[in-house]
This record gives sequence, C-alpha cells and structure tokens, in this order.
Amino acid sequence: MKICVVGTGYVGLVTGTCFAEKGHTVCCIDIDEERIGKLKKGISPIYEPGLDELIERNQREGRLFFSTKIRDGLEGTQLCFIAVGTPPADDGRADLAQVLAAIDDIGSELSHSCYIVVKSTVPVGTGTLLCKRIKNHLRERGMEKINLEILSNPEFLKEGMAIEDCLHPDRVVVGAASDEARAVMRELYRPFVSEEKIIFMDPASAEITKYAANTMLAARISFMNEIAQLCDKVGADVLSVKKGMASDRRIGEYFLNAGCGYGGSCFPKDVQALCYIGEGQGLDMTMASAVSKVNRKQKELLQIMMRERFGEDMEEIEAAIMGLAFKPHTNDMREAPSITLIRGLLNCGASVRAYDPIAMDEAHRLLPDNVQYAADIESLLAGADCAVIVTEWPQFKEADWEKFGGLMKRKIVFDGRNICDPEKMRALGFEYYCIGRNMRP
Ligand code: NAD
Repeated sequence: MKICVVGTGYVGLVTGTCFAEKGHTVCCIDIDEERIGKLKKGISPIYEPGLDELIERNQREGRLFFSTKIRDGLEGTQLCFIAVGTPPADDGRADLAQVLAAIDDIGSELSHSCYIVVKSTVPVGTGTLLCKRIKNHLRERGMEKINLEILSNPEFLKEGMAIEDCLHPDRVVVGAASDEARAVMRELYRPFVSEEKIIFMDPASAEITKYAANTMLAARISFMNEIAQLCDKVGADVLSVKKGMASDRRIGEYFLNAGCGYGGSCFPKDVQALCYIGEGQGLDMTMASAVSKVNRKQKELLQIMMRERFGEDMEEIEAAIMGLAFKPHTNDMREAPSITLIRGLLNCGASVRAYDPIAMDEAHRLLPDNVQYAADIESLLAGADCAVIVTEWPQFKEADWEKFGGLMKRKIVFDGRNICDPEKMRALGFEYYCIGRNMRP
C-alpha cells in the first residue's frame, strides 16, 4: 500500500517507519524543516531504541520517504494518517490546532479518493468535524466527487518500547463506518496482528477508547499512590500490598507502582481532556478528576519530604537529581515530575545538579538556567547533601551505593521510585526515604 503519515513525532515517525518495515511505501510529512532535514540524513529527532536502524534501512531500501510538502505524501496514497500533536489547552481540553491545520493542508492538495485515518488522540466527534472541514475544501476546489472516509485508529504505543509496541501491538482499535474501510485496515494490519486482535467499532467509540484506556492506567497509578500515603501513615509497606493485590488475576501487576507521580505527553493531558469532554456533556467526571488531583499532589511529595528533612530554607543544600525523563528509555520530559521537583527546590534556595542518561538536551531546553548538569553518576553525587531518584533508569537500580555513599557529603537518599532496598541502604549507613514503605526514619 502507499501511505502518507502527517506528523513525525513519536507516533507518526514510529508508525510510519513500522509500516515501511512491513513492506508498505510510506511518505512522512512534517512542517518542521529541520526535523525533516535530519530524517532525510537518517538522524532521528527522538530517542527510541532500534528506531535509527529501521529508518536508515527502510530509507535505503526505498520504502520510507520524508518531505515537508503534503503534495509529495498524497500522491497516489490509499491511506493518509494524521499523527500530529494534540497538546492540552489552558482549560484542559485537547488543542486541535495542529489537527485542523493538517486536514486543511490535505484538503487543499488532495485530488483522489482515499481514507484519512486519525491516529492523534482527539475528542469524540473530531472525525465528524474533520469530515465537514475537508469536504468544504474539496467543494471550494470543485473536487466534491472525491470519495472520503475519516477513520479513527488511536495509537497505544509506549515511549521507550514504541517499536516493539508498534510491530506487535496488544490490539488495534479501528473506528470505521464502512465495510470497505474495514477491509483496507484489515489488510494494512495483517502483517502486524492476527485478525481477532483488530477491534472494529464506530469512530466515536474508538475516540473514547483511547482516553478511557489512558485514564484507567493513570487511575491505577494514582490509586496506588493514595494507598502508599496510607501505608506511610500506618506503618505498612506498599510493595507488600501491591504483591498481595497483583496476584489476583482480576487485578494483575501492571501500573501499580507507587512513586513520585506520572508524567509524559499522554496521561496528564488525556485524563484532563476526558474530564473536559465529560463535563461538556454535563457529567461530573468524579473519578477522572480525582486521578489528576492525586497526581498533582504526588508530584509535590518529594519536595515535601525534603522540606520536612532539611527545613524550608535549603540555601545550604546541594541536591543531586537522578533522572529527568518522565520514565526510563526516553528523552521525553513533557510533564515530568523532575520539572516540578527542581522548580520547587530552586524556590527553596537549594543548589540543584542533575543527570539523566539521555534527556540532558531536553533538560537544557526546559529547566531554569541555574540548574547544573553532571556528566555521569559519580560527578553528580560527589559532594552532594542528598540524592533524589526521580526516574527508574536501570543504571540507577544497579547503582553501587557503597561506592557512591563515599563520594557524597551526607549519605541521604530520597527514592521517588522505590528502586533501592531499604534494609541494604540502612546497613550501608544511609538515611533512606521512599514512598509508602514506612521507611521515614
Ligand atoms: P509530537 O508533538 O511529538 O509530534 C507532532 C509532530 O507533528 C511534530 O513533529 C510537529 O512538527 C508535527 N506537525 C504539527 N502540525 C503539523 C502539520 N500541519 N503538518 C505536518 N506536521 C505537523 O506528538 P506525538 O507525541 O507523536 O503525539 C501525536 C499524537 O499521538 C497526540 O495526539 C498524542 O496524544 C498521541 N499519542 C502519543 C503517544 C506518545 O507516546 N507520544 C502515544 C499514543 C498516542
């Protein structure tokens, strides 16, 4: 098949490259000239394990192309994917500006029938809105005979595992009205999943499915964070509680880790957007709004623990921040708990030094200028009053605390991801704080 993908962020670039990997001919479009310039040279603008090799090989073998011109992508295409960003607006709703710009671009150039597939996460009814909008463009250009159908095909990939998720998805959700569209999507995804894993539904249900799935996952995290706070109050261990809960097959083990809050480009904005959609229909959205509320509080927790330990004035404190990305294996720092923490510590006068295996460039862009950066864990911890673990990178899990303790001014660790063994840390002479494990000395 010939496919056009509009938007080369995490979703567009990864899905476009994976379609090419399965033999389709794919042209990825972006308005960002620098990004497209790099991609043409085989340089990926995002960090995703395995992505560089796939881009390079599929480009070399003539299945993957990049352009800033929508016309290049639309030529002869059967499917045109929209995978641009839908960031949160100030009031919490999804900002559709990029999606509307993309449909306008398509509408001003399209000259043959095709299916337009919305991969971006969008509110219910967006498919209908886009259909009206593109038909207006076609009418103005005297092209109303072109046959179009707008499909919804929300994306469920996880950053850091995006290639694996894309090549072997748990399921593919498709919102489509016609049998013909369903047949094309079945053919597209045949090399990726068995047929029973392609779940067809109406477009509105597909649009809601994405928000509902993300809110459910975020809810599990927020619920465990609330349980962790209770554990801290009553002297229980949230990891034992998790083990006891997770062994029930109806509950399972995923997304039950208590910590310093969830971040990223999806959970915070999608939970908020679901609230906005529901409230617009006159519903309270009590559960979804509680999920956001708990998470906002949770992102403050590490700095509250540090203020309790060091006092409100932290002028004398040198804090070493371990991890900046919102989760391991990505350089994405959107809505990362590290940002809330670092801003809070700087406000209290602390000196902040930070290290992340791959998110340092992002950090320079997003964090205040007075943050210092270390080149490795050793230089991060040397002379620090405390280490604060914010991202559960494997290299932090495997840290040699006996050695690192010797480099620090004071042996104090705040573990926002519960990755250290409290008993071992104590035995090594650390003052060790973590989340929901009754470990506040
Ligand atoms: P992103 O912000 O990383 O990338 C969006 C890209 O679209 C940018 O490169 C931008 O330059 C480009 N763009 C904007 N307007 C354009 C236009 N008119 N024409 C061409 N290109 C344009 O976004 P992302 O993280 O890839 O997310 C895309 C969508 O997928 C969002 O709706 C998001 O909620 C959803 N989603 C994201 C993830 C994730 O893990 N990042 C997972 C599932 C779903």
